[in-house]
Amino acid sequence: MAKPKIATDWLAACAGCHMSLLDVDERLIELIKKVELTSSPITDLKVPPESGVDVGWLTGAVNSSDNEHVAKRMRARARIVVACGDCAVFGGVMRMRNYWPLQKALETAYIDTPSTVEGKIPGDPDIMVPQVDRALGEVIKVDVYVPGCPPSADLIFYVLNELAEGRIPQLDTPKLDYD
Ligand code: SF4
Repeated sequence: MAKPKIATDWLAACAGCHMSLLDVDERLIELIKKVELTSSPITDLKVPPESGVDVGWLTGAVNSSDNEHVAKRMRARARIVVACGDCAVFGGVMRMRNYWPLQKALETAYIDTPSTVEGKIPGDPDIMVPQVDRALGEVIKVDVYVPGCPPSADLIFYVLNELAEGRIPQLDTPKLDYD
């Protein structure tokens, strides 16, 4: 029987969730016997295949037009989408910017920080910054939420192993408004 295919990608994230995935350590060898990893931000192949995958594993919040594109591409190509980490689950630390006008948040990030010299707000039209930071579930349908900042390696292993065995992991997560 073909192994389930898993793709992973990141949105607005600090990479900590993927570091926690690596902290699964030697159990990764156990997992890789059961699944095929098609793509990830930390391998040569970074984009999930057009032919689709069984599981799409996303970390990070939706904080730009590029994040939205990556999230929607994963949704279109994955049968089951997992939101991994607090940024993906509820918007994470970046959601704090929603309390200020967007322009103020951009000025604080790119101009006003003490270490910035001749700062400039990036104007790349391909990376439009929306008014508010959004959780993944506010942009696409999410099937499994894995909370934590980052989720522990044990929790990540449990979820991945359940999915590898063809089961939907049972997690005691609160119901979210956008669920
Ligand atoms: S949930 Fe925490 S560890 Fe994961 S990407 Fe967000 S800030 Fe980083």
